[in-house]
Amino acid sequence: MVDHKAQSSEEIFALEDQYGCRNYAPVPVALCRGEGVFVWDVEGKKYYDFLSAYSAVNQGHRHPRIIAALKKQAEKLTLVSRAFYSDQLGQYEKFMTSLFGFDRLLPMNTGVEGGESACKIARKWGYDVKKIPAGQAKIIFADGNFWGRTLSAVSASSDPSCYEGFGPYMPGFKLIPYNDVAALEKELQDPTVAAFMVEPIQGEAGVVIPDDGYLRKVRALCTKYNVLWIADEVQTGLGRTGKLLAVDHEGVRPDILILGKALSGGVLPVSAVLANHDVMNVITPGTHGSTYGGNPLACAVAMEAMKVLIDEKLSEKAEKLGKVFLEELNKLPKNKVTTVRCRGLMCAIVLHDSIPAQEVLLRLRDAGLLTKTTHGQIIRLAPPLVITEEQIRDGAKIIRKVLESFDK
Ligand SMILES: *Cc1c(COP(=O)(O)O)cnc(C)c1O
Repeated sequence: MVDHKAQSSEEIFALEDQYGCRNYAPVPVALCRGEGVFVWDVEGKKYYDFLSAYSAVNQGHRHPRIIAALKKQAEKLTLVSRAFYSDQLGQYEKFMTSLFGFDRLLPMNTGVEGGESACKIARKWGYDVKKIPAGQAKIIFADGNFWGRTLSAVSASSDPSCYEGFGPYMPGFKLIPYNDVAALEKELQDPTVAAFMVEPIQGEAGVVIPDDGYLRKVRALCTKYNVLWIADEVQTGLGRTGKLLAVDHEGVRPDILILGKALSGGVLPVSAVLANHDVMNVITPGTHGSTYGGNPLACAVAMEAMKVLIDEKLSEKAEKLGKVFLEELNKLPKNKVTTVRCRGLMCAIVLHDSIPAQEVLLRLRDAGLLTKTTHGQIIRLAPPLVITEEQIRDGAKIIRKVLESFDK
């Protein structure tokens, strides 16, 4: 029997704990409403959301224009599968390819499916175009990468908590150090390498920013050795780092671009793979697909979510407010925070070993700001890009007060 009485936070924690797969350890806060940069728990307490669902909510919670597009399309048509055409998909594909400067788009749903699809395209291109002998195509990844939780994604992971206990692993994958051009060049000389897949800034690894020029060198090396460069911009893309794409910081284009997360503004799972004809055309009818991929509801929502990003100049906002936030975070006590990293509004602080990270999350929650750690002592800070300068400063003040509370 489902109990429809108002539930307390404690009851909500207990329900998930008892009936759900325990694949997450959430911060204990039970949310029931969101608007812009704020979320509310079932007791009515208001919080700043400084995680933004891992940068899926760049446009803010329930952006009115995106919700209006969702409702309008939901009243007409939501899903037909790709067995038929819809009046939304082609328009969406045209809009997206012209916005991002690629010839073609493959619509998928989650970020990890985008990564899987990119790897499939790269392998097929390796055989059809590069003429790699059958069954030998390799894809290179960087240590510290994160692109999801499927068997392929965990096979590419260097993090034991991602891959341990889930073997056997996908063959044909190889890891090299991140931000290491020499290691990349050495691997790319192998004529069976089809692709190098990399995040322009590693998100899950803790906002790891490579040296200036890394992406330009990746571009040059992939071109030199006839290897596809796949940029995983599922987290870094769509304004988060202060540009529409993180690769824009270095003025380079990948051969395959993967988008997800903020592509729907936090409304639906929508991902996309973009590439030019020479690459995307290796996929032919019957060789790849997804029942929900490119559904009319997703297309209408994603198109509006992208228009909001552009109309509200959210990339520029992230650039400007990222500087303000970095300045504030740099003032945090050095005996509590050892490192601060920010590119646009994709930020992380690394706590001193003496500061208990989980306790910091709880005290931030109590002070009205929600976020999450990654890899122990790293706290991610990624508010929705619709945040104001005053709110950014307010958030920084909350963080400072909470850290200072560890003196007592
Ligand atoms: C979150 C993420 C993914 C996976 O997206 P899901 O929608 O969770 O499958 C892939 N790549 C990067 C860089 C991510 O941050």
